[in-house]
Order: sequence, then structure tokens, then C-alpha cells
Amino acid sequence: MPRARSSGSPNLACRSATTNCIRCLPQVEWEAPMADFLKLRDRMVDIHLARRGIRDSRVLQAMRTVPRERFVREGLEDFAYEDSALPIEEEQTISQPYIVAAMAEAAEIQSDDRVLEVGAGSGYAAAVLGQLAGEVFAIERHTALGKLARERIAALGYDNVDIRVGDGTRGLADQAPFDAILVAAGGPDVPAALKQQLAVGGHLVIPVGDPGDQKLCKVTRITESRFEEENLGAVMFVPLIGEQGWQEDGRRAASNHLPGASKSQSLPEMIADAAEDLPGFDDPAFGRLFDRFAGRRVVLLGEASHGTGEFYRARAAITRHLITHHNFTIVAVEADWPDAATIDRYVRHRPHRAGTDKPFQRFPTWMWRNTDIQELIHWMRDHNDMVDDMEARAGFYGLDIYNMSGSIGAVLDYLDRVDPDAAKVARERYGCLTPWQSNPATYGRAALSRGYAECEKAVIDQCRDLLRKRLDYAKDDGDAFLDAAQNARLIASAERYYRIMYYGGAESWNLRDTHMFETLQNLLDARGPDAKAIVWAHNSHIGDARVTDMGAARDELNIGQLCRETFGSDAALIGFGTHTGTVAAATDWDGDMQVKRVNPSRADSYERQFHDSGKSRFLLDLSPERHDALRRRLAEPRLERFIGVIYRPDTELQSHYSQAILPEQFDAFVWFDRTQAVTPLGPEHHRGVPETYPFGE
Ligand code: SAM
Repeated sequence: MPRARSSGSPNLACRSATTNCIRCLPQVEWEAPMADFLKLRDRMVDIHLARRGIRDSRVLQAMRTVPRERFVREGLEDFAYEDSALPIEEEQTISQPYIVAAMAEAAEIQSDDRVLEVGAGSGYAAAVLGQLAGEVFAIERHTALGKLARERIAALGYDNVDIRVGDGTRGLADQAPFDAILVAAGGPDVPAALKQQLAVGGHLVIPVGDPGDQKLCKVTRITESRFEEENLGAVMFVPLIGEQGWQEDGRRAASNHLPGASKSQSLPEMIADAAEDLPGFDDPAFGRLFDRFAGRRVVLLGEASHGTGEFYRARAAITRHLITHHNFTIVAVEADWPDAATIDRYVRHRPHRAGTDKPFQRFPTWMWRNTDIQELIHWMRDHNDMVDDMEARAGFYGLDIYNMSGSIGAVLDYLDRVDPDAAKVARERYGCLTPWQSNPATYGRAALSRGYAECEKAVIDQCRDLLRKRLDYAKDDGDAFLDAAQNARLIASAERYYRIMYYGGAESWNLRDTHMFETLQNLLDARGPDAKAIVWAHNSHIGDARVTDMGAARDELNIGQLCRETFGSDAALIGFGTHTGTVAAATDWDGDMQVKRVNPSRADSYERQFHDSGKSRFLLDLSPERHDALRRRLAEPRLERFIGVIYRPDTELQSHYSQAILPEQFDAFVWFDRTQAVTPLGPEHHRGVPETYPFGE
């Protein structure tokens, strides 16, 4: 987790405005905070624009020139050079820098062009366009936004940019034709007025399509009557509301018709109608509600925080049901492999391995050392006790990569037992990482400066050697081999992870989620062709990243996306959410767990729509064939709250909310309006054996 800012100056350490407190990432000490916005702007251009494929040097220069911090809402200046959209007044957003640059590049603007922008918002994109063109007109439908944008542009002395207030779907006939028209909001189609006002040879760039299915479209006017259209890929914009766009209620304005959309019901009313009430956690009917997902190969269960008791208890109830009645044998959780392996040995009645009796000692301990998990693993052990066939017993596995030293210990211990000569070689190879084992986050910096590239080769060679000897090693004890092999894979992934984490960006996140997904695949392979898995991980890992800011704005993928791409409809992605209550979380990475009050959800969030339904706990089935009209209404992008192991209620909007299209992100959503913090295991829970084990003091 990047650390919090200590002063008002911009600081690279706080890496992401929208999700920096969501990720379960260890702290990285950055060398020195960037001194000023200029450097941040250069970094944004180099890393987020040039590296991601923006080639036009004039566009890159324009992005280097315009001070984005002058266009964001007060208090958000430090986030101005994150590559993400940010909230502005009137519940609108300032576009993500990458999309501003990509649209400007696509519009092929020349220095004496006349340009129209629809959706001026903060005025930022208009200012960028002003650097590229001779003259820019930008229209905004909200008067207050138009006024603010005009003031900002004037204060910066950009005298070729004229901000107007009005309905931009009608264009600006008195100033037409335009050499380029850029629309910063998504309409159902390309407004005819804008096509008419485009000069021959000019380009119009606009997001079109239903919410959740928007494409960025480039229209080129070839002749007076001929237009060519090009699809530039999927995007996610706020709606274009106006005469030739959408109506405020989500219906298509031009034709007044959006199939299936309800004309009379509010969104919360539609949610209430579709919601299926959840019984008590111990009522068998709770699990039965999830029978509809029992035929899937993988059922992924999310959580909107890492410290909410109801999310744990609901997932435990679903897990018990799927294990008991539907032959699921893999419970794979967002926890470190070697720690979860201790639990697995306990629940499957496999021999205990010396020195591993205190799993989950690392921050955040409450995530897995809590009363709900303790209850689940005792249930799993009792359940497995009644299953004679070892292969049919349900196992508990960790998908995550953080406990590198635990994994090194496990590989060495394994080789000491099965192949002492190989253990000697492995000791030497892993010796390269020894200085960093207690704080691997510092390894990245060391690897940069001291040429620690040899560690990479050493850990990969070790992993390969072990896998090559699979047949020899696995013949006596396949479970022990799987454990060792997975630990060796983890060390190789973790070595790379800590190295690239130093640079920030999507790569380290993607490596971690890819590792987690591959671990899941390895488990499914190991447990046979009919094996079925239940995954427990945060909503940010299991909801499809492609329809959230993660994928749309930052090129981040996640387990949910990879499962959908690989298993298609054989994967069920189930999100969880809450309106308010308490949560177990820390304020900073490695800080103490506190029970914090969860702010009531924001008015512009999905959570508020669920809260306004008036229902206290329910399952909402979002599968495509169910509740079609509701799905369409929910598909307008909104904010969604992500609380991780850190919760900072004071900066909640920047730290914990992110844009998403929820009905595309999940196949179902589980709602608890009020929730309570999970109970960490304390001394009072450690009185007797076997209750204590495997969570020793
Ligand atoms: N380009 C803006 C910037 O740099 O801050 C971001 C714009 S925001 C993504 C989209 C804007 O389009 C919102 O401010 C919204 O009010 C505006 N909008 C939506 N429909 C509109 C319409 N018919 N005419 C003008 N503005 C519209």
C-alpha cells in the first residue's frame, strides 16, 4: 500500500487517487517526493501517455503544457496527475488524461483548425485542444460548470478557447463548420447535427452505445454526403444528455425509446422488486439461494472491504453449501500460499509440518485470523472427517504472493526431505534473496541499483528444476509436491513483483492477479477435470476489471476478468456491498487494526441505490437473462466503494470510490445494508486445543 501524504505537496507515494487504499499492497518507500507539478506532468506524459501509445508529439506537448491541477476540484490537486478521471462539480468528471490525449490524437487537429468540444466539464480538455488548434468552442450543459470552466480558462490566459453553456448535441450552428468535433459524453448514436456541422475532411470523435457497451467512434466526413466510421475500442463515459442524446432518466431522447427501460419505476424500486431476501446465515435456505451457480466450474465470492463480518459469514454459508451439496473441493482465498497450506493440512487431516503452526502473522492479521474463518475451518475439518476419499476432501488454499520467506522455507524443507542434494542448490539460489526476506518491498530499489538481476535467474531456475522433477517427486505424495511447486512459483512471481512494484503502474497489479489466477488453474488441474473451486477475494479482484476504472483507465486486469475470459459462463462473479456500519481496518499499512465507522454511501454511488431500495439484505441476480430492464438502468456508470485493509473515511471519495458498471462487473450482488466489523482472534479465543489450532498464539 503506498503511504499517505504527510504534506500538501504532491507525492508520488500516493499513487492512485481512486484505488490507493483498496489494494492489499505492502508499503514502498520512494526515494524522494516529486518537487512540483511540472515534474508530475512530465511523468504522466511519459508513463501514462507515451508508453501507452500516444505518438503525436504535438498532443504530448499540449498535455505537458496545460496544468491539470488548475482544473480539478479543490482538495484534489495532488491527484491531478494520476491517470484517472476525477470527480468535479455537478456530479460530473474531468476525463482521464489518457483519453483526452487519445481523442485529441484521433481528431488529427491542425494548428489553424476550428474545433468544437461537447461536454466542456472542467474546461481541461478544451484547454488542451486550445494548444493544438486555432480556435476552440466548448459547450457544457451545466451552467455552474460552464462558468467555472470559463473562469479557469480566463485565469490561464487561453484566449482561443470559448466556453458556452447549452445542449451540445445540437452543436453550435453559428460557428460551424468545424475541422474537428470531440464529444466527452456517450450518446446512443452520433447526433445528426454534429455530423452536419463537420467540415469535409474533418473528424468527429464520440463515444456511442448503450451504457456498459460504449465504443469510441471516429467519424470522418469524406464528402458532403459521405461519412466513414471507425471503431476505436471500448470506453466508459458519462451520458450525453440532450435533444439528440439520452434523456435524464436514461431513455433515448431522439426516439424516446430504449427497449425495456421502465418508465414509471425508480431505480431503487426496480432493485427492491428484483431483490431476493437473504435468510439467516445458519438457515439452509441461505445456501440454497446460490444453487443457481452450483453448475459453474468457479464461483468467485467478493467483498467490499477486508474487515466486514457479514461478508465472511455469507461467504462461509455459501461455501458450506457448495461443498456439501455440489462437490466443490477447492476453497482458494486471497491469502498467502504457505500460510493457507497450514490450514489446508489441518482441514484435510494431513500431517502437520513442523515450524508452520502460526500462520497469518503478517499484517493484516485479522483478514484470516478471525472468528468467522476459525469457524469455517473447523467446519471444513469436521466435514472432511466424514469423507473417506482423500481426493474428495475440500482443501483450503492461498492464491497470494506476499509471504516469500514462508515459501522459501517450505521449498527448502520439502527438498531436505525428498532430495537433500537439490536442497543444497536451492539454498544457494535463494540465498540471493536472503537480505530482503524480512522487507521484500525494499528489494525493488536494491535490484535497480546493485544489479540483483541474478536473483531473477536463480529463482526461475529453481522453479524449473523442481517442476522438471515432478514425476520423481510427486509419486509418493502429490499434495506435498503441489505445495512445494506452488511455493517455488510464488517465489519466482514475488521476486519479479517486488522488482516491478518499485516503478508503480499496472504491471505489478497485473502480475499479482495473473499469479493468483494461474494458481487457481494449477489447483483445478491438480484436483482433476471435474474439480470445482470457490474463490474468496476482494471485489476489486473478482469483479470484471474491464468495466471499472481499473481496466478502462489503467490497463489493470484481475482474476474475475481472467476467469471470464477462460471459463466464460462457467464462472460466476458475485460481488458484495454495504451502505454503512463498522469495519475492521487500519489507517496506514502495517498499522493497528481499528474498528472504524463506515460512512453512509455517497448519493452518486451504486451503494446508495441499493440502500434506497429499503431492503436490508438480499441477493440480486444480474445474469443477462434476468431482470433485463434493471440491468440496463444499472448500466449507467456510477461510483462504487472499495475498502481494503486500509480505510480512510476522511478522504473517502478519493481513496475508496471508483467508477464501475456494476451489472457488467458481476453476475450477482449480495447486499447487507448495515454491517459490523469482523472479530479478530484474541487471547479469549485461544483457550483450548483443538479450538486453538491451527491459529496458535
Ligand atoms: N471534457 C471534460 C473535462 O475535461 O473536464 C470532461 C467532461 S465530462 C466526462 C462530460 C461532460 O459532458 C459533463 O460535464 C456533462 O455535464 C457534459 N454533457 C453531457 N451532455 C451534454 C450536452 N448535451 N451538452 C453539453 N454538455 C454535456
